[in-house]
Amino acid sequence: MSALSLGSWVTFGGQVGDEATRACVVAARERGVNFFDSAESYAGGEAERSLGRVLKSLGWRRESLVLSTKLFFGAGQSGPNETGLSHKHIVEGFHGALRRWQVEHLDLAFCHRPDPETPIEETVRAWDLLIRQGKLFYWGTSEWSAQDILTALRVAKENHLTPPVMEQPQYSLLVRERFEQEYAALFRDHGYGSTVWSPLASGVLSGKYDDGLPEGSRLAQRDYGWLKDKLMTREVLGKVKALKPVADELGCTRAQLALAWCLKQPNVSTVITGASRPEQVAENLDALEVAERLTPELLARVEQVFAP
Ligand code: NDP
Repeated sequence: MSALSLGSWVTFGGQVGDEATRACVVAARERGVNFFDSAESYAGGEAERSLGRVLKSLGWRRESLVLSTKLFFGAGQSGPNETGLSHKHIVEGFHGALRRWQVEHLDLAFCHRPDPETPIEETVRAWDLLIRQGKLFYWGTSEWSAQDILTALRVAKENHLTPPVMEQPQYSLLVRERFEQEYAALFRDHGYGSTVWSPLASGVLSGKYDDGLPEGSRLAQRDYGWLKDKLMTREVLGKVKALKPVADELGCTRAQLALAWCLKQPNVSTVITGASRPEQVAENLDALEVAERLTPELLARVEQVFAP
C-alpha cells in the first residue's frame, strides 16, 4: 500500500462534487497513491457513490487499487438494525458498500467504532464469512481500545477465524497518546497495521487558520462547528505557528512538514490524507520528499513544540 493515501471524509460526495473528486483521485494516482479510503457513513453514502462513479469512469485495473469501507454508523437514513457491528449489519452494510463502490470485492473493511451492544465474537465471525466468500480481503478496527483488539485477535485464533490485521486511528502532531502508548504492544507483538487519519488535524496543521476562518474551508462548513470549537483554540493555533520556522528552514509548507512527521513515525503503515482540491493533493504528496530531508535535529525541534 502507498505510504500516503487519500480519504473521503467531509469532502467527496459532500463538500465537493464528482469533478473535484475525480481531479483529486487522478492527482493522487499519478503520484503513486493506490489506497482510497471511505466509509458507509461519509456524506450518507455519497462519498462511496462518488468514488465508485469516478473510478468506474477512469477504468483503472481493479488489481492496482486498494479500496476500503468502514461500517458502524450506517449509510444515510439508518434504522436500528442498520448500524453497529451485528452479523446483520456487517453483512448487509458491506453489500451496500459494494453496490456504492460498484465493485465485486473490497480490499479492506474496518469496524468504524467498537460496538458494546454486540459480542466481539459475532463481529469476528461476520467478517470471516465475507472474507471466505472472497468479497473482502482484510478486516480491521477503527478507534477500538487495545483491549478489545486483543480480544478480537484471541477469539479469531481460538475459533480458526480470520483475525483483524489493522487499526485506523487518529494520529497527528496534535493527537498522539493512544497510538504511541496504548497500541505500542499491538504493533510490537502482533504486527498490527495502521492506516492513520486526520494527519493535518482537518487542515489546522497547515496554518490556514492562523488568521481566522477561510471561507469554504472545512472548519467553516455548516455542520462542522463542533470541529472548529475543538481545534481553533489559542493553544492549538499557537503550536501550529511555532511549526513555521522549522518548515521555513526545510523550504516546505507546514502541511508538508506535518505529513512528513507522520511518515517518519514507527508503526505507521499509511497516512490517509484528505483534500478538497487537487492542488492540496499535489502539495501533500511532496511530503514524501520532505520526509527524506527531515533530519533528527529538525525532528527534535518539532518535538519541542508538540511532545505529549
Ligand atoms: P486531514 O487532517 O489531512 O484534513 C484534510 C483537509 O485539510 C482537507 O479536506 C482540506 O480541507 C485541508 N487540507 C488538506 N491539505 C491541505 C493543504 N496542503 N493546505 C491547506 N489545507 C489542506 O485529513 P482528514 O481529516 O480528511 O482525514 C483523512 C482521511 O482519514 C479521511 O478522508 C477519511 O478517509 C479518514 N478518516 C477516518 C476516520 C475514522 O474514524 N476512521 C475519521 C476521520 C477521517 P479544506 O480545503 O476544506 O479546508
